[in-house]
Amino acid sequence: DDTASRYLADENATLALGAHIAAAMQPGMTVFLEGDLGAGKTTLTRGILRGMGFAGRVKSPTYTLVEPYAVSNLNLYHFDLYRFQDPMEWVDAGFRDYFNPHSICLIEWADKAAGLLPTADWTIRLTPVEDGRNIEIQAHTEHGKACLAQLAL
Ligand code: ADP
Ligand code: MG
Repeated sequence: DDTASRYLADENATLALGAHIAAAMQPGMTVFLEGDLGAGKTTLTRGILRGMGFAGRVKSPTYTLVEPYAVSNLNLYHFDLYRFQDPMEWVDAGFRDYFNPHSICLIEWADKAAGLLPTADWTIRLTPVEDGRNIEIQAHTEHGKACLAQLAL
């Protein structure tokens, strides 16, 4: 798979890179966000949303499982599946329909819903390094590889 990586010295670097990533993303993408609690997954999502022109609050959907945003002519769904337990809930809540050609889905703790999710176009992994973070973006699909090629990290 194709990969790109970079060091992010502080929170502002994570937010700025999120905005940069936003410019390379396309509708229909599914992105898994990996890394421990506090790694910066939600911070990066905030940067991506700001990059798309969303000016409001971006809070962690820890209890609601998903937070929907309507931005720049697309729907962005930010999932946090840390507390996800019941596969029936996936169908009942209609989460399946969130994955469509007109939306972007960013998913924290995707492993909690293994088997219910489509193949990720990208996996983004955040790892603490010194006082900052390392970010690695891995593309798994043709669509993901094409978008990653647009991104000069
Ligand atoms: P997660 O969603 O992965 O649990 P959050 O984004 O909620 O993590 O929290 C990340 C924490 O790390 C925040 O306190 C944020 O200020 C901080 N942070 C984000 N990016 C960096 C960075 N590049 N270097 C140092 N601290 C960062
Ligand atoms: Mg989070």
